[in-house]
Amino acid sequence: MTVTSTDHDNTAVDEDGFRTRIREFLDNHASRRAADDELSDIGGPVPGQALAAARAYQAALYEAGLAALTWPQEYGGQGLPSRYQTIFNEEAADFVIPDGIYTIGFGMCIPTVLAHGSEANKQRYVRPAARGEEVWCQLFSEPAAGSDVASLRSTAVRDGDEWILNGQKVWTSGAHYCQYGIVLARTDPDQPKHKGLSMFVMDMRAPGVTIRPLRQMNGSANFNEVFFDSVRVPADQILGEPGEGWRVALTTLMNERVAIGAGRSTEKTSPLTPIALHLELAHRRGLVDDPLVRQDLADLLIRYWVLDMVGLRIRGAVAAGRVPGPEGSVAKLSGALLNRRAADVACRLAGPAATAWSEGDNEAQRPNQMVLVAPAAGIAGGTNEVMRNILGERVLGLPKEPSVDRDIPFRDLPHS
Ligand SMILES: Cc1cc2nc3c(=O)[nH]c(=O)nc-3n(C[C@H](O)[C@H](O)[C@H](O)COP(=O)(O)OP(=O)(O)OC[C@H]3O[C@@H](n4cnc5c(N)ncnc54)[C@H](O)[C@@H]3O)c2cc1C
Repeated sequence: MTVTSTDHDNTAVDEDGFRTRIREFLDNHASRRAADDELSDIGGPVPGQALAAARAYQAALYEAGLAALTWPQEYGGQGLPSRYQTIFNEEAADFVIPDGIYTIGFGMCIPTVLAHGSEANKQRYVRPAARGEEVWCQLFSEPAAGSDVASLRSTAVRDGDEWILNGQKVWTSGAHYCQYGIVLARTDPDQPKHKGLSMFVMDMRAPGVTIRPLRQMNGSANFNEVFFDSVRVPADQILGEPGEGWRVALTTLMNERVAIGAGRSTEKTSPLTPIALHLELAHRRGLVDDPLVRQDLADLLIRYWVLDMVGLRIRGAVAAGRVPGPEGSVAKLSGALLNRRAADVACRLAGPAATAWSEGDNEAQRPNQMVLVAPAAGIAGGTNEVMRNILGERVLGLPKEPSVDRDIPFRDLPHS
């Protein structure tokens, strides 16, 4: 879970006792991480059983007073400083935590509600999310607006006490099991593209919302196309003011990069855990003494450790109350490149078994799954090229990309 700033500094909580409580909770409600559990589950399947397990886990976490650690107490959080989230992450690194369905809600949507929602919205949405009762998705991308999300075409038109939404979103992770989503729509086409947007909380079961799953190349269907056909959204479900949607979206996107790039630490696991599968494959094929294989493994491990340290730095900045800047993009880009490298090395180690394996031989199948899943990390939450642009402009001080449509009313832009 991404840490957010808090209104309360509940510093009276004893850190050692807190660590013990977490350990006891995880021993009772999660399973210990096995050697080959490192495979990223971006885009992985979420069958009904896994949903039920996630809900049960989150409900128990809430009951134990360990959910939403940094969120304000008046909305159902624990009001603790960020270092308690770090302690939780350290302990959780040894466990498989079944909370993947909440990543977008906790990491992106609820922090956005907390930062920009009305008091009534915070009272209504934050606690049920912390309890795991309501799951959230993020509805930004459209067929003609991904990297350049501000060019989106979904519209929201005010009608009395409601807004009427029309349009289409795509790649909406988890929309098929979510109760709520945050949706970015164009409310004023007479403004330039960044200025005429607004952000809304959408009830995913509202009349006029149609959700269609998209099949991914690894066989799962975790994201969706979402269509809005005159969906009525109450006016008080806006986050921020009308026309402020881009500013609100930046809160979500910044949290997203940090959540993807530096979300969970592996600090407490064995130093070799990140390459456990690779080691297993090397042993299996009698390659552990091969100097070139050892070089690949060492290279991979060093990259994982460096990424961990970047994550530590980001979490430290958040803990100190700073808003992370381009380091979120550094972590996001490095993680995506590392996923690809890890898949390549795993395939070299597995040999022919990476393309054809015996049924039930999970170890041999894993490199293949890594290959099929790795590209997603270089696209979700901003592509590698977009991260490089951000780093070029904000870290290296290179000239900004030319932008010819920034000041032209959206209505006057040519649309294909
Ligand atoms: C696993 C996964 C989960 C996702 N979940 C969600 C979700 O829950 N909600 C949501 O709203 N979206 C989601 N997305 C969508 C994601 O945010 C977009 O796919 C992403 O922003 C890229 O947009 P696009 O696919 O339209 O590609 P485009 O923007 O069309 O890019 C196509 C290619 O052009 C390159 N490119 C584009 N602009 C530039 C530039 N300025 N400079 C250099 N190169 C450029 C890109 O890097 C890419 O290679 C998800 C995507 C994935 C893969």
